[in-house]
Amino acid sequence: MDVLRDEMRVDGGILNAYFLYKQRELRDRFDQGLTLREYVGLGEGLLVTDSGAFQGFVRKLFLSNKTIVAFQESIGTDVSSPLDLVTPPGDKRRVAEDKLNATNKRIRAALPLVEQSTLAGVQQGGRFLDLRRRSTEELAAMNVRYLAIGSLVPFFNRNHDVSFVGPVLRDARRIIGPDVPIHVYGAGDPVEIPFFVALGADIFDSSSFGHYARKRAYMTPYGAVDRVDELAAGEYRCPCRVCRDLRDVADWEDLLGDERRLAEHNVWTICETIRRVRTALAQDRLEAMLADIVETHTRWFPNSALGPTWEALHDV
Ligand SMILES: [Zn+2]
Repeated sequence: MDVLRDEMRVDGGILNAYFLYKQRELRDRFDQGLTLREYVGLGEGLLVTDSGAFQGFVRKLFLSNKTIVAFQESIGTDVSSPLDLVTPPGDKRRVAEDKLNATNKRIRAALPLVEQSTLAGVQQGGRFLDLRRRSTEELAAMNVRYLAIGSLVPFFNRNHDVSFVGPVLRDARRIIGPDVPIHVYGAGDPVEIPFFVALGADIFDSSSFGHYARKRAYMTPYGAVDRVDELAAGEYRCPCRVCRDLRDVADWEDLLGDERRLAEHNVWTICETIRRVRTALAQDRLEAMLADIVETHTRWFPNSALGPTWEALHDV
């Protein structure tokens, strides 16, 4: 945590409330007054808890919506999450619609349970743009003050395709208005984040830094690279403390084989991307930043969908 706070300067964290809840000993400590902020030790940054909905997607949780929301509220989270229903792209319209209705019903039931925390309205709707739109409209009518976009990852994590994500985020921003934060659950590739910001999102979380490190993938602002020769050639040089003294191919081999150091570099790259996006927004040059990313990314990954799908969105 010290490294995350002092070296990476992370702004906050997301924790899985279900994992916190199911550890009996930890739950007792929370009952005795331990707060989430004390437990995490990240200082004043934003603390978000998610509900375990994604775990519930894989196996049954034996946990109710109201119980997990009340638990999140009791431990002092800043943003709590309902037990929403994950809707993968393969779900047919009927299924996606039923899940959307059930999710919104749970959000409606959970809203009166929170006072200190802000309850996330979670958008579902699967692959149906009109359902996603309706989801956001209903959440706006419930007056949610934090919008999370659920089940969106599978639409962009193959080949950085933004053709569906683009209209989803633009619609969400238009419907919810400029003041409500929009969180894209599970978005954490630094090459994608600046595009999601341009489309209207503000908050991101992901364990991508760890997953990428496990498969020996080195994140850069232009896409993740796993080839030692390309890294050693040095077109991109990372100034983080893990990378700044790397010299030759052997150093790069060592790094790609060291999951912990590689994960640290990856987290640093994500945080640095957020800082660069903020600077670009403040200087009104996000468009130039995106053009630069598309140019380099497309040269490195000629088959990527990012450039073509982004340009198609841009022309609309
Ligand atoms: Zn680095």
